[in-house]
Amino acid sequence: MIDELGIAIKAREFIKRCGPLALPVSVDAYASQIGGEVIKETLEENEDAWSFRDKGGKYRICVNCAHNARRQRFSVCHEVAHVALEIASDHSTPSWSYSRRPPGEIACDVFAAELLLPYQLFKPRVNGAGMSIAAIGSLADEFDASLISTGSRFATFSRELCAFVVSEGGKVRYSARSARLREAKGWIRPGSPLPTDSYSARLRAGERPSGAEDADPDSWLEDWARDGALFEDALHLGHWDQTLTLLWFDDEQLAAPAPERKQWDEDRYKLRELDGVLPWPSGKKRR
Ligand SMILES: [Zn+2]
Repeated sequence: MIDELGIAIKAREFIKRCGPLALPVSVDAYASQIGGEVIKETLEENEDAWSFRDKGGKYRICVNCAHNARRQRFSVCHEVAHVALEIASDHSTPSWSYSRRPPGEIACDVFAAELLLPYQLFKPRVNGAGMSIAAIGSLADEFDASLISTGSRFATFSRELCAFVVSEGGKVRYSARSARLREAKGWIRPGSPLPTDSYSARLRAGERPSGAEDADPDSWLEDWARDGALFEDALHLGHWDQTLTLLWFDDEQLAAPAPERKQWDEDRYKLRELDGVLPWPSGKKRR
């Protein structure tokens, strides 16, 4: 199985072959690149999409017309990935089942995220954005992508010590961490409950959003031993009982890095930020 860095490189090569990029990216252009065409269909509630090659050799991508437009865009990119990566689809486990997702499906999700939020366009905007859920929301609008995909890539590519955490039913499902936070061994355990009295937990309990606030690093991060002030911004999506949390450290208040950290350089960041948890955890990525 090709690793995430390999998938990201393949996706970037694919994007280059599609010609100049405009925002939001055209998923129909991606589909035509593989000789495909998008068809909106009525599918089962949890089914994202399926594809087949018709008698004329044309690849038909059937997306669930009942899903919101942004989810459909991701689904089209995912189906394109199956062809581009030559991975047979295995849609027997639903896409929302994070833990039981087959490796081939995760690979296609990684490829799809690259197509929808291309590094070349997305990374400069992450560098220029402030740290807030609202900033992620603006990027999601600009790229016509879901908040979860956008937030995950936002954290993965951020130069800050930060994490984007997705929780469901008050429990952490997964988190995407920046290269620096992974280097610093900042770990948020999947399955753990939202910290009591945290901004995220209070939003879930019905409190009105009031903007980012201070957070307790020890309650979010396991075995965290570094200094520095942690901030938390969050959004609760009541319909799905989903809580999205952005956590970041205020750089200026962090203690000076330990000597061995000085060997970090830009090249290493560039590689490391690619091996992050993209939209779904792969199981093999642990600290
Ligand atoms: Zn698939």
